[in-house]
Order: sequence, then C-alpha cells, then structure tokens
Amino acid sequence: MSNNSHLAADSDPEDASVAVMVRDVIELVVDLIRIDSSNPGDGTGPGESAAADYVAQRLAEVGIESEVFATTSAARVGVSAFLAGADPSLPPVLLTGHLDVVPAVAEEWTHPPFSGLIDDDGVIWGRGAVDMKGMDAMILAVVRHWARAGITPRRSIALLFTPDEEAGGHHGAHWIADNRPELLHGATQALGEVGGYSVTLPNGRRIYPVQSGEKGLAWVTATLGGTAGHGSLIHDDNPVQHLVLALAGLVQHPFGVELTPAMTRFVSVVEGLIGEQLVLDDRVVLAEQVGGISRVLGAAVRTTVNPTMLDAGYKHNIVPGAAKVGMDMRFLPGQQDAALAALQGYFPDGTDFSYANLDIALETPFAGDLATVITEVLGRFDPEGVVVPFLMTGGTDAKAFSKLGVRYFGFSPLRLPDDTEFWAMFHAADERVPVAALEFGVQVLEEVARLA
Ligand SMILES: [Zn+2]
Repeated sequence: MSNNSHLAADSDPEDASVAVMVRDVIELVVDLIRIDSSNPGDGTGPGESAAADYVAQRLAEVGIESEVFATTSAARVGVSAFLAGADPSLPPVLLTGHLDVVPAVAEEWTHPPFSGLIDDDGVIWGRGAVDMKGMDAMILAVVRHWARAGITPRRSIALLFTPDEEAGGHHGAHWIADNRPELLHGATQALGEVGGYSVTLPNGRRIYPVQSGEKGLAWVTATLGGTAGHGSLIHDDNPVQHLVLALAGLVQHPFGVELTPAMTRFVSVVEGLIGEQLVLDDRVVLAEQVGGISRVLGAAVRTTVNPTMLDAGYKHNIVPGAAKVGMDMRFLPGQQDAALAALQGYFPDGTDFSYANLDIALETPFAGDLATVITEVLGRFDPEGVVVPFLMTGGTDAKAFSKLGVRYFGFSPLRLPDDTEFWAMFHAADERVPVAALEFGVQVLEEVARLA
C-alpha cells in the first residue's frame, strides 16, 4: 500500500536525512547571504572571516573538523576540511566555493541585498544567491547530510572555501596554490563555479553547460604621452587625440571566431538540438537561435576587449601631457600573446602598458569519470536535459588551482525556470535564485560528489 511504503520511506534514516539536506541548503544560503562579505578589490571590505567562522561552525555541528586559515591578512580567511573516502587509492575530489561577493548598491535592489529574503514565489534574494553562496550552501548541505546519515563517498573529498575570488584570488586561491597547496589534499579534479545551470533554448530544449575551461584575462592600462599646451592652438601631439584614434581602431578589431574543443562540442550539440547551424558571427541571428545565452556564447568563441575606463586632462583649454585608458581583454586559450600584440598595435610607440590583472586561459577535456558521472546523474534527475561542456568567459579560482594540476569543472547544478536569464544575474542587482532550483541542485551535487 502506498501509505505503508510512505511510512517505510519516512522511517529510513537516509531518506529522512535527504529531506533534512533539502531544507538545510535553504537555511544555509540565507544565513550566508546575510553575512556581508563584499569584496571591492581594494582591501576596504569586511573580509571573509565571519563567513568562514559560520562555515566552520556548521561543519563542527555535525562532527566535521575544519581549519579556518588566514591568507595575506587576518581579514582574508578561508576554510578547509577533508573527508576520507571509501577508496583511499583514488585521488580526492575538491569541492570548492568562494566566500566573498561583489559589492551591492542597495538603492538598485528591489529587496535589500543582504536580506536573504524569500519572496511569495519561493525565490531567495540577495548578493551571492548566484555567485556563489548558493553553491557554498549546497556543498555544506551535502557533507552535513553525509555526516548525519553515516555516508562515505567513493573518493575522498577536500573542501575548500576561499576568500578573494572576486578580485582575482591574490588573497585567496592564488595565495593558497603558492603557500598552502596541501589544503587541496592532492585533489586532481574539482567541482565549483560556473555552470551546471539549466538553460532553456527558444525551442524549449534544455541544456546544462558545464564549465571545463575559461578564457584568460588582461586588465590593461595604456598610458599615452604627449605634449601639453594651450587648447586654442594647433597640436600634433595631443595624447587625448592619440587615445581616441587608438580606441577607434581597437574596438573594431576583427577577433575571429575560433572554437576550443569544449566549444566545438557545445556548438555541435546545440546545433543538433535546434536543427540548424549556429551563426556565431551575427549576434542578432545568434540571439534568435539560442536566446539570452547568445551574449555569453558570442564571447566564448572569440577574444574580446572592452575599454572600461578613461582618464585625461583637467581643464577645457589645456591639452594634457598624458591620457590613460583601462581595458578588459579576455583571450581564448592559446591566444594570449597574439591578443596582447593586437591590442598594443593600435597604440603609438612609447605607450606604457601596465596590468592590474593578467591571468591564464585554460581548458581541460570534458572526459573521464567525473564528467561521466555528471552526465549520468543529471540525466537521471532531468532526463530531457543535455549536458554540454562550456568555455567560461569570466575567470574563477580554477586558474589558481590549475597551477597545481587540478582539472576544474564549473558545476553548481540548478534546474531553473525556462524564462530565467541566469547568466545575466552574476554581479547584477536583484541577484536571486529559486528555492526549488537549490532543492534540485543539492540532490544532484550530492549524488555526483558521492559517486565521483
Ligand atoms: Zn563566483
């Protein structure tokens, strides 16, 4: 009888613990959102120690020992833990998330950004809901469930919650890779951000892009010299004019479409799902073909550069002696030197180039047992969803961990409503995630991490 089997299921401690896990993830993400760990990138933020202490307490509550460690200062703090697996001969899997978030301007938000408010539609609002306290909460909920139910995963699991991802990881993952590599416990593969979210194509087909690589980044400042003088005269060495001409060329530079192995697979799978060839060099057609993901897709198949900061002069009638532009360049794997040379080629000789951040591009094959488990488990939870590898346009802690040979997959699974523009929510106002998406995600992550 169904009533009896229902009772039987309820009395199974493991099923009861799964139910607790599904509730737990919501409480954990709300609590984490309410801890302001904004990282403006200039060292003025509150740091991550309150978030790290919270994580350590929640692990201790179920008997998991952890280390709360500081990196470059007492304010930049992470948490590490290790869970022994059933087969100690296998290298561990790293489950990792960052504890910091980008700042939020409260006036731009419908609900206060550090409220963790759950609205009547069952959506959790707040900075970090997406990037990436939702995944932090899922990781915590999974290992707390294992501890309660006495479950041992196949592989050992290294847990690492990092500071400073949002400012390049120099006080976080890069520092850890350089100074405390043992915190990864010899893990060879990692699960973290960005990916594993469902994306519904305009024709209703659903894909789950999983990050298996990411573009490199160069935050370049070009400083152009010139000859200062009176604004009423003829000038042939005005640095503002040099700058405008350089940028006019640069923004029109034809960075060509080039598919990495991950994007070759992504494109061919999506073409199969929509029944036509993707037009990657026409953003209007591409948007019709794949919807909101087109802006990410367009940037995942070519090197890009956006000028983002301009600085010159101090008075209308004075030609200044120098002018400056800040640019955000994102290059494909293998294109770093060519991309920087192309950029520099538009500027006059003698221009000074400095880098606020310069970090590698990388990609690992979407293959092997972890990729297989991801595909199998998601296929069970969402039989209509199709897993595809993806080259991320942004940068994550993956760059630092790759220095230690770790193959990093961006897999923070969420089943999202069809009309969600999830990728547009990173670093945006009104960042939010549905409760149901996390309830789905935590169960998928649990099974993937247990079977990996
Ligand atoms: Zn992130």
